[in-house]
Formats: sequence, C-alpha cells, structure tokens
Amino acid sequence: MTLAREERRVRPAGSRCGVTVAKRRGSGVRMSLDEPKPAPTPPPAVAAVAALVTLAALAIGLTLPDVDLRLGLGHRSALTHSLLPALLPLAWRGRAAACGIAGGIGVHLAADCFPRRMTGYATVKLPLHGALPPLESYAWLALNAAAALLLAAWWARRLHAPAARAFVGLAALAAALHYLWHDPGGWPVLALAGGVAFAAVRARGSALLRRGCEEEEQER
Ligand SMILES: [Zn+2]
Repeated sequence: MTLAREERRVRPAGSRCGVTVAKRRGSGVRMSLDEPKPAPTPPPAVAAVAALVTLAALAIGLTLPDVDLRLGLGHRSALTHSLLPALLPLAWRGRAAACGIAGGIGVHLAADCFPRRMTGYATVKLPLHGALPPLESYAWLALNAAAALLLAAWWARRLHAPAARAFVGLAALAAALHYLWHDPGGWPVLALAGGVAFAAVRARGSALLRRGCEEEEQER
C-alpha cells in the first residue's frame, strides 16, 4: 500500500490553529486500529479484594528489599533489590499481590538510586560475586526500578476495573509520596517525578489543542 500526501499549513486571521491544506495521491487507504476489548468486569466483591490485596502488597513491597539485612545477605543484595521478589507470587497465581509488590519495590529502588555516595553499603551485592562497582550499581537499581514500576502499571491496567484502578492508583500514589518524603533518597525522585509529570501535562495540553484545531479545521 502506498500513500503519498502533500500538505501545507496556513493560519487564518483570529485563529490559534493552522489549517492544513492537504492533497493525497496514490491508492491511500485510511487504516484505524481496533480499540482493545475491555476486560470482563469482575463481581464488585472480587474487585474490592483484589484492590486491597494490591495495596497491602504495595505497603510490604516498599520496605521488602531491605529484608536482606535480616537474612544476612549483605545490604543491597541483588536478590531483594530487584524485580525478583515481585515475581514470586506469580508461582501461586497471585497477580494482584505481584502488582503491589512490584510497585512498592519500584519506588524503593528508585529512592535507592540516590545515596549520598554510591560506595560500600550503598552498592548492590551479587550472590557469589560481591559488590558491583558504582556505575553498575546505579544501572542495576535504575533498570530494576523502571522495570518494576512499568510492570506494576501494566498489571494494574489488566487486573483492575477503571474505578478500582483509580482507587488503587490514588492510594498507591499517597503511599509512595509518604515513603519518598521520609527517605533520604526520595527527594530527588520526587523532583524527577514532578518534572516528568509537568512535561506530560504540557504535552497532553498541546495534543488537546492540536486535536481541537483539527476538529475546527474539519468543520470548515
Ligand atoms: Zn534498599
């Protein structure tokens, strides 16, 4: 399929929008992706239990990586400072728990990315290998934090219906903010998250303006 499109934009007086003057050539066929089918809605009681399990697991996940101190694994053990503990509930099909633990671990590891100095106590310890160098410790923590947060968001989307998801999202956000506020490494994460949220809101505003302009253009 070939589609050739030539276009130029002009801006009419008194409008914030440019008007696209477009000319198509060739055998253009407009394609649209099908909307994903919504997941079947579970009974309210089941949805509520799943939401509560996710939130309880999130609370556990926030401090779970530091259980290495009690297990004698050496602080910042790669076994607990990674995505691994979030995958364990999957052995019992506990996806709601896995979702919460992944979210909690993601927030914990994000804060661990900002120690005063990435030396000694702060570096990641691999079993049978020992401490990773500073740069690799940063990379380990950052990659596992990003993977855990993305996985938690993906699971939350698949597991929870929109209303439950909104409740879980708000409660999880409050728990994460509380944790980051009280953790020494949490402040840079809050600043970073604030910057990303600001950029996302700006990009969304621009997209809405662009869509409004396109609709105005189509009405002409
Ligand atoms: Zn830690």
